[in-house]
Amino acid sequence: MSYQVIARKWRPQTFEDVVGQPAAAQTLKNAILQKRIAHAYLFAGPRGVGKTTTARILAKALNCVQGPTIMPCNVCDSCQEITAGNSIDVLEIDAASNRGIDEIRELRDSVKYAAARDRYKIFIIDEVHMLTTEAFNALLKTLEEPPPHVVFVLATTELHKVPATILSRCQHFNFRAISHKEIFDRLNYIASQEHVQISQESLNAIARAAEGSMRDAQSLLDQVISFCGREVEDDQVRSLLGIIPQQLLEGFTQAIIETDARQILLMVDQLVQSGRNLQHFVREMLSHFRNLLLVKIAGDDHQLIPLSSMDLVRLKELAGHFSEEDLTRFFNILVTTEGELRWSSQPRFHLEMGLMKILQAKRLVSIEELVAGLTDLMDAEKRLDSPAKEASQVNRPSSTSKFTVNSGSKTQSQPQVSPDPQTPFSNLAERLKSAIAQRSPMVSSLMDHAHGLQLMEGEIELQFTNQNRFYYEMLQSAENLEMIKELADSIVGRPQKVKVVLINGPFQPASSTEDKSSQKPSKSQLLDRVKSDSNVKTFLDAFQGEITDVKELK
Ligand SMILES: [Zn+2]
Repeated sequence: MSYQVIARKWRPQTFEDVVGQPAAAQTLKNAILQKRIAHAYLFAGPRGVGKTTTARILAKALNCVQGPTIMPCNVCDSCQEITAGNSIDVLEIDAASNRGIDEIRELRDSVKYAAARDRYKIFIIDEVHMLTTEAFNALLKTLEEPPPHVVFVLATTELHKVPATILSRCQHFNFRAISHKEIFDRLNYIASQEHVQISQESLNAIARAAEGSMRDAQSLLDQVISFCGREVEDDQVRSLLGIIPQQLLEGFTQAIIETDARQILLMVDQLVQSGRNLQHFVREMLSHFRNLLLVKIAGDDHQLIPLSSMDLVRLKELAGHFSEEDLTRFFNILVTTEGELRWSSQPRFHLEMGLMKILQAKRLVSIEELVAGLTDLMDAEKRLDSPAKEASQVNRPSSTSKFTVNSGSKTQSQPQVSPDPQTPFSNLAERLKSAIAQRSPMVSSLMDHAHGLQLMEGEIELQFTNQNRFYYEMLQSAENLEMIKELADSIVGRPQKVKVVLINGPFQPASSTEDKSSQKPSKSQLLDRVKSDSNVKTFLDAFQGEITDVKELK
């Protein structure tokens, strides 16, 4: 038996087999069942997602000896001829190569005659947007007065180029790009049926490269098989697809971590020397940084990140060197760079500048870090002024710590005083945090945005400021609270109440007397509170500023 290309061999032959277009398939089946066949259909959508395939299945459904039926038999002459593409009553016209009026005139003439043998005369016009204006006008005349036995199926990848006069006479179907998972599953199935040994990673790579087109995915698989035989090596697939190896992306990331500009420029040079498409490289970098950000937020979720477990471990390690803000900034810079590369006659320069911008962006620090740094600086100065006090400051917890752990003492009067980290309560808080981090990295990273964590008698309170309202709301779900409570119960050793609250301004211990006296503090109270805040003091001292007004954030 001669070799048949995969796309043809595995082309769906029934509505059920069409992957990723359930809406279109169902509507067409309903129309057939209700005998409401339109004279003209328009299938619009990206290339390789099943438009022509669906058109042929529709043709078979209408012309099958047992039809019209939603389950064409695929064995009668009519079905088999349509599959082979040589049915006399089903005519396929590729408008990309037959754009002219002559072809359409010919079509108009043949429309007049009844089907030679079958029920319907069916015209499938592919890439219909390519027709010339004259050809469109000729087609329009036919669509305006179609004989009862004729069905048109027009297919296009560029709907906006089809004249409105044509559109208004067609029943319109949108075909969507096929998801990565649907393509992967189909390739996996075909590979096993064809007895081809290929790794999940390579199948993933092919599915990614196909960018939503099932036909592209299948012809890539064809190329891979004809290149590698039945035993496919990952390296071969990578070089065949021109895929940027994961190690190369990681190499760039490592150089960014080390702020090694020279190394980055050398690597760009290697990319250029080896003839890589730089725009393609930037797109791969984009998906790499997207994965880094996802790993940071959601942990190693295989559904969200299409990579092997090995790669995920490495990715997690790299992501640890960056903050979420860093990764978002890098991503935005790469998006801009990719746009510039598209129009540039000097793509290399734009890529180099883009990567240098990332290095600069890495040096930007967040406001919290800035304040923490200033505070440390001021403390150091104070210590120099009074060396005698130094000993008493040793136990002070680092001000960069995201959590201020409160002992929960009801008599406490100084809001910002943190207890000795050796107290049992702070141990409990630390243990709780690490237990949560183990159970759910997602919840843990949400909690990182909390302003404070309070452990009191039988109660745990997580405080968020208004700026972090997003994380506050994310954490609110019953599932999250239940999990925190469960861990807290077992760590503290008795039932705990878990509260997540939104606070205004800086960290407020629940025992603060100001809170109890009135719900809304007066302006002078606010001013006092702000003046006594150590961070504000640091700022005022550092920038020689003064407070002119205090506003509560809603
Ligand atoms: Zn049939």
